[in-house]
Amino acid sequence: MKQFKGIPENIQTPILGLVTRNEMSLSRVNRVLIAEEESLLSKGFSALITNNDKKKNKSLPQIKVSEEISNNLEEGDCVLISEDGNIKVVWEKKAPANSILLTEMCDCRCIMCPQPPKVHDKNLIEISKRILNLIKIEKSQTICLTGGEPTLLKESFFEILDAINKKHPKSSVMMLTNGKSFADFEFTKRFVSSRPKDFLTCVSLHSDVDEVHDRIVGVKNSFYKTAMGLQNLARFREKVEIRVVVNRINAHRLESIATFIERNFPFINHCTFMGMEIIGLARDNYDTVWIDPYEYREEISQAMRVLSRADINASIYNVPLCLTEKKSWSFARQSISGWKNDYLPICEDCSVKSICCGIFTTSELHQSPNIYPQ
Ligand code: SF4
Ligand code: SF4
Repeated sequence: MKQFKGIPENIQTPILGLVTRNEMSLSRVNRVLIAEEESLLSKGFSALITNNDKKKNKSLPQIKVSEEISNNLEEGDCVLISEDGNIKVVWEKKAPANSILLTEMCDCRCIMCPQPPKVHDKNLIEISKRILNLIKIEKSQTICLTGGEPTLLKESFFEILDAINKKHPKSSVMMLTNGKSFADFEFTKRFVSSRPKDFLTCVSLHSDVDEVHDRIVGVKNSFYKTAMGLQNLARFREKVEIRVVVNRINAHRLESIATFIERNFPFINHCTFMGMEIIGLARDNYDTVWIDPYEYREEISQAMRVLSRADINASIYNVPLCLTEKKSWSFARQSISGWKNDYLPICEDCSVKSICCGIFTTSELHQSPNIYPQ
C-alpha cells in the first residue's frame, strides 16, 4: 500500500479516516481534511493534513506533509495516520484492488515471504472492520483479504466475512491463502456458507513435489494439506486460483508444476506463475531464492502452453515482457497494485512499456541485468 511520512502534531492515537478537501462537508467524524490551515471550518474533522507549518494554536490533530504527498491523496481515500507521522493509504479510491491486512501470523515460513510472519496483533481486526465500515466500494473494485494467513483467525475471520456481507454484499472479494485450513472439511463447509457471494480463493502452491513445496514454505506436510484444501474447495465448486511464486528452487520445474496442476486441479478458474518481490525473507534468503526471470523464460512458456492446452485460464504476473519469450506475452499481465510497479530509465525507449508490468519498486537494486527495451 502507498505510505507517506509527515510531521505529526497533537496525534495521541492512530487516526483512521476518509480524505476530503471539502471544508463544508457535513460528515466530519472519521474524515481527514486536507486544508491550508486549521480554521473554524475544520471543526469536527478527525485530523488535518496540511502543507502549512505556521505556528498557530493547533487543537486538531494534524500532520504536515509536502505538497507532493497531499497531491497524491485522493478524495475518498481511506488513511491510517499513526502517532509517528506515518500515513498509510489503507484504501485507494481509484485502485482496482485494495488489500486489507487481517493478520501477520501464518502457519508457513516461506523462504521468499514478502511479509515475514509475526504474532497476531488484534488491532488489525478492529482496523479492518472500521475500514470496511467506512469505505465506499465501486463496482469495478475488488477487496483483497490478505495476511499472513487470514483463515487462522477462525472466529475473527468469519466476523470479517460477515462485515463484508453486511456492508458490501455485492462487492468482489479475493483472499490470498496457503490453503492449509481448507484441508479441514468442516472449516471449508462453514467458509462456503459464510463467504460473500463473489469470492475468489487464491491458493499458493509452489511445486508438484511434496518435499520441494515443503522446503519452500518451510513447514513439513504443508503440500498435502494444501492439496487436500484445494480438493475440498472443489467439492463445493468454489472459485479457485492457484498461485506459483517462481524462485531458484522451483524454476526448473515449471512445466511439471503446470502438468501437475492441470491433472489434479482441472477445476480451477485461473492459474498464475509469478515473479518474486525481493523484500522480507526473499531479501534475507536472496542467494537461495533469487533467479533472473530471463533464465526461466522457456520454462514459463512451456507452463503456459500446458495450462492453455488443458483449457485452464493462465497468466504470468510480475515478469517484465523483455524477460519473457514473445510467444508468452499474451499471458503477461500488468499489476493491479499500481503503487508497486515502476520502470527503469532504460524503459523510456521501450515500445511495449504501456503493456509491460515493469519492475517492483520494492525490490530496489535487485533487478535483472537483462532488462532491455523492445
Ligand atoms: S503463506 Fe504467505 S504469509 Fe505465510 S509465510 Fe508463506 S508467503 Fe508468508
Ligand atoms: S524495457 Fe522496461 S518497459 Fe520494456 S519490456 Fe523491459 S521492463 Fe518492460
